[in-house]
Amino acid sequence: MSDFEGVDFLRLDELLSDEERLARDTVRDFVSNEFLPLIQEHIRKDGSFPMDLVPKLAELGLFGANLHGYGCAGMNNVAYGLVMQELERGDSGLRSFASVQGGLVMYPIHAYGSEAQKDEWLPRLAAGEKIGCFGLTEPDFGSHAGGMITKAVRHGDHWLLNGTKRWITNGTVSDVAVVWARTEEGIRGFLVPTDTPGFEARDIKGKFSLRASVTSELYLQDVELADTARLPGAAGLQAPLSCLTQARYGIAWGAIGAAMACYEEVLHYSRDRIVQGGPLAGKQLTQEKLVFMLSEITKAQLLALRVAQIKDEGKLHHSMVSLAKRNNVDIALQVARLARDLLGANGIVDDYAAMRHMMNLETVRTYEGTHDIHTLILGKEITGIAAL
Ligand SMILES: Cc1cc2nc3c(=O)[nH]c(=O)nc-3n(C[C@H](O)[C@H](O)[C@H](O)COP(=O)(O)OP(=O)(O)OC[C@H]3O[C@@H](n4cnc5c(N)ncnc54)[C@H](O)[C@@H]3O)c2cc1C
Repeated sequence: MSDFEGVDFLRLDELLSDEERLARDTVRDFVSNEFLPLIQEHIRKDGSFPMDLVPKLAELGLFGANLHGYGCAGMNNVAYGLVMQELERGDSGLRSFASVQGGLVMYPIHAYGSEAQKDEWLPRLAAGEKIGCFGLTEPDFGSHAGGMITKAVRHGDHWLLNGTKRWITNGTVSDVAVVWARTEEGIRGFLVPTDTPGFEARDIKGKFSLRASVTSELYLQDVELADTARLPGAAGLQAPLSCLTQARYGIAWGAIGAAMACYEEVLHYSRDRIVQGGPLAGKQLTQEKLVFMLSEITKAQLLALRVAQIKDEGKLHHSMVSLAKRNNVDIALQVARLARDLLGANGIVDDYAAMRHMMNLETVRTYEGTHDIHTLILGKEITGIAAL
């Protein structure tokens, strides 16, 4: 059992089905009992993810959990969101691992792959026997991925890929990279087995954020692939952007988990910590901070739940995901900063989770569309005028 109770001021639990609660509680227990005891060790080593947990993550059905068939769990989007929330309650690096494997590697194969590609990769990715990464960002093109330099040139029924991808989660631990490249026909996606000659991945070190996650640079030098490695259904920038919508959806939920972890930690701490003859929690300024945290977490939960319902109805627009990702990551970061503040000096050491979540959330604010890029996506949606 987990000692984490969650935050449920508006009794949202009553809106969940038994299956949804079970999925959440199972992952909650796993995170408390099997992941959190390991996190300090991995945080102290930059770029170190507890790979031994991969089979267990697979056994829990957490890779491609909302996909159907090919060994995937086929959860609805509420259960999937709750699972992402619980993973990120552990660490954004843990949720990132599942998001990349499911939303950025398995989803594009599921949505755009040939039947042979699906049969070859999806069951093994779902089982955690193979790990994947998603190569879109380049050293000079992040927010504006459409400017990518990486090129794929067709030579008969083969392609030659050249370019560099940077900031790629799981690059050095992957068996397959989904690489997006410019071709004469527009942007296309390729499944690149990482043992293909000309492919190399190197870790990026020195991160203050997402330390329990592998972040890499990918180098492609005359990587030769058969046309069967191209995702046949993926045409144009729309294809990678649709994958990002999947992963961003999970992030909107995940950020709530990070915020809940910080809130719960500091709520307990402030009750026990005595300042000037009484508990810190009894001070008006503390209560104002705690109430802000509770209000924002509750609003974020309502937002995520509604977006999940709309996604399950098949009526989701990508700008709704932008709204949820932008808001929930923003409030989670504010919650983490306030929690760190209330923890005082204790807040700067890794015996407490708030600063770790705070530093992680700086990445989460930047990746999968920065906060400002989501502002511009929403700005375009409501005004009809593109400022991007
Ligand atoms: C730990 C980590 C893991 C990652 N994992 C992956 C991965 O697995 N795969 C992958 O492909 N990428 C990954 N990324 C990359 C991530 O998606 C990019 O960092 C992100 O898209 C932002 O790009 P950038 O860093 O180049 O910033 P830039 O695009 O240079 O943005 C810098 C600043 O400029 C602002 N800005 C940009 N354009 C505009 C504009 N038009 N108007 C106003 N402001 C603007 C941004 O909001 C931001 O504040 C990861 C990043 C990190 C940090």
